[in-house]
Amino acid sequence: MQTHTKEEINYFIKNLNTFSQDKITKWLKEVKENGLTNEETTSLTLAMVNSGETLNWEGLEPTIDKHSTGGIGDKVTLLFAPLVAACGINVPKLSGRALGITGGTIDKLESIPSFRTNLQIDEIKNQVKKIGLAISSASANLAPADKKLYAIRDVTNTVDSIPLIASSIMSKKIAGGSKNIILDVKFGSGAFMKSFHDAKLLARAMVNIGQNLGRNVKAIISDMDQPLGYAIGNALEVKEVIDVLSGKEVTDLVEIVISLAKCIDFAPMADSDLKEILLGGKALRKFKEMVIAQDGDLKLFSNSNKAKHIEVVKSERDGYVHKIDALSVGKTVHTLGAGRKKVSDSIDHSVGILFFKKYGDKVKNGEVLFEVHSKNKEDAESAKKTLTNSVLIKQEKPQELKLIHDII
Ligand code: URA
Repeated sequence: MQTHTKEEINYFIKNLNTFSQDKITKWLKEVKENGLTNEETTSLTLAMVNSGETLNWEGLEPTIDKHSTGGIGDKVTLLFAPLVAACGINVPKLSGRALGITGGTIDKLESIPSFRTNLQIDEIKNQVKKIGLAISSASANLAPADKKLYAIRDVTNTVDSIPLIASSIMSKKIAGGSKNIILDVKFGSGAFMKSFHDAKLLARAMVNIGQNLGRNVKAIISDMDQPLGYAIGNALEVKEVIDVLSGKEVTDLVEIVISLAKCIDFAPMADSDLKEILLGGKALRKFKEMVIAQDGDLKLFSNSNKAKHIEVVKSERDGYVHKIDALSVGKTVHTLGAGRKKVSDSIDHSVGILFFKKYGDKVKNGEVLFEVHSKNKEDAESAKKTLTNSVLIKQEKPQELKLIHDII
């Protein structure tokens, strides 16, 4: 495939609506097959940025944006954003809904009764000016060309291409306006990227795009073979977030949040200070300020979202947990009703899985391994069946699991 000039790529994206779906698909397939150069990937990103609105947070800088390529039990934004805001850095965060089997921050927040996730840009600015933090769905028309291209990729088996994924994600991040962008690129069974090698290529491609377009971008590459934290499902995850912010040290969540915060190179802080702010109450205060500013009701939250049916699953042997397969957990929680099959589907915030043991933990025969929170007994029985096969217990202690594999 010939390389394209910046002008050719601009022309293509500007006139996307005039090309037939077949022509666009042919190009996408060629890109999937042959890749794009660093310059082409940057030009594609910029052309998609320029297809819609671009935001700027003048007067609020330095601002931080954070993006995860998606995982199971990934509630990291809900911990990272209040932590960073509690450190005095502004976080005007635009987030998305669930995509496939991976959860979305907006869906999680909507399990808090009356929490508003559809703030207008001026409202986000005013809130960030006051309390340093707002999390909202994107009301602006960011990178519409990406939406169109993604819709075609989705049905033509061309999602799976590193330059296309990198430009798609970064077009929305660049249009979102923050000068500083921290990326959490995941790999493993529950992630888009199955191997460390591909995750590293994706991270490198995204960092390059950001740097070429004048942004300060850092990426961590992290494991997504097992779910993050103990809770998977919208309300269960928000409850876990509040537990961590109230001092519960959930090891993998704390490690990943601190590692991301350490990537903020213009405001370096010691691990111990970050941990104290995260677990010691300051970040919780920020989280609560945000919930109040966005009309959420945390009192009602603790009394609502109780699943209709809870089924407890116990271990049938002694040993150590060797595996909790993130993909299988993600699919199960999706089937229980925590995700959507199509955009217009509604979701059930109360359903999910609560683990009591994680990788490396010692388990005794009869100890509780996990709970299924479901709409009814039949759903719980079928979830129990699939999950029992994806939790592996062996006699010997497994090697320690590495969570953060690289920082770029
Ligand atoms: N997420 C995106 O926004 N775009 C992709 O292409 C893949 C994941």
